[in-house]
Amino acid sequence: MKEETLVLIKPDAVGKSVIGKIIAIYEENGLSVRAAKMMRMTRELAAKHYEEHIGRPYYEELVEFMTGGPIIAMIISGEDAIKRVREINGKTNPKEAAEGTIRKLFAQDGSKNAVHASDSPESAKRERNIFFAEAEIF
Ligand code: ADP
Ligand code: MG
Repeated sequence: MKEETLVLIKPDAVGKSVIGKIIAIYEENGLSVRAAKMMRMTRELAAKHYEEHIGRPYYEELVEFMTGGPIIAMIISGEDAIKRVREINGKTNPKEAAEGTIRKLFAQDGSKNAVHASDSPESAKRERNIFFAEAEIF
């Protein structure tokens, strides 16, 4: 099924100048960029996006990290995009991520892990509306 998913290139990866390499990996896998912008997350935006993580022991560290530098927000589309993008990204902790995945290639640890992607159709829809207006999606 053709799907859209929300991807963030996190501040660690933007800082390493691997935006192009990361986008190329999605495109080489037959996926397409439908929307993209560089921005800086505020604490309010981080709280909305990471709603389900509020109160977890790593939450403060996560917000400090995600608001600490610019990110690239994107909508990526393609066949089974939600599951496939998460496979291409690899496991949350790069030590557990498979060879060739974005997190294996570019993540530092289980916090500064290069990319985010929606984990279900419901979160894809919710997260899309946090970052993009309809007119910004092509
Ligand atoms: P994913 O991004 O793979 O969907 P989660 O939804 O579990 O992973 O967590 C969201 C983000 O919070 C992670 O990508 C990571 O940046 C951060 N995070 C998750 N667990 C931890 C942890 N134990 N310690 C530090 N940061 C974490
Ligand atoms: Mg998640």
